[in-house]
Amino acid sequence: MRIGLFGGTFNPIHIGHIKVSAEIKKAFKLDAIYMIPSATPPHKKSKGIADARDRLEMTRLAVSKLEGYNVSDIELKRSGPSYTVDTINQFKKTLSADASLYLILGTDAFLEIDTWMSYKELFKMLPFIVMSRPKKSSIVTPEQLESYILNNVSESYAFQRQENRFVDNRYRPIYIFNVAPYDISSTDIREKIKKRKPMGDLVPEKVENYIRKKGLYL
Ligand code: ATP
Repeated sequence: MRIGLFGGTFNPIHIGHIKVSAEIKKAFKLDAIYMIPSATPPHKKSKGIADARDRLEMTRLAVSKLEGYNVSDIELKRSGPSYTVDTINQFKKTLSADASLYLILGTDAFLEIDTWMSYKELFKMLPFIVMSRPKKSSIVTPEQLESYILNNVSESYAFQRQENRFVDNRYRPIYIFNVAPYDISSTDIREKIKKRKPMGDLVPEKVENYIRKKGLYL
């Protein structure tokens, strides 16, 4: 069983999250994707962040009809900040021994990973899949990614061009994956809602209805 863990604030979940994770699921032949909304995001200012239960519900609505998608409330059930290292440890305990886990994240999140709790541990725990992201990461070149990894994780990571991944004998591989560009962010969506502009097709219809019904982000 190959499982992708895709965490985020999902404030709100948008089409970009869905499209890129579906592309990764296919490319890496994953059997399942677990979407994991964070409870108390340690990295984002809590102002403007919808209640975790609303973000969880919107995530459920967005993926309910998608095959192989699950939504985990693991971070909402813990108290205190949502540290990824705790989430992965918890996942490892509940899944069968033959399950292989992958951590999926965008370049913008990856380039802040040195601020995450016990981040070097994470690179020992599971392989990473780092997806390209337009706009937010437009300044990120492969060389910059490489120097970030060498400076912050391990200087013995080496790039394997054919596999498009960095390998190191003490750490798990870091895959670099160029997904189709979706220039969409939750910030843009929140701004549109505040300005009473239509959300267009940036969020699934059920999520838009939920946002309107609850009056979120106004
Ligand atoms: P915000 O605008 O509030 O910062 P966001 O759109 O970045 O939100 P998050 O919930 O923070 O959404 O993102 C969760 C994960 O999904 C992160 O790893 C982020 O890099 C990735 N991600 C979000 N949108 C995209 C996108 N359009 N393309 C590729 N990766 C994305």
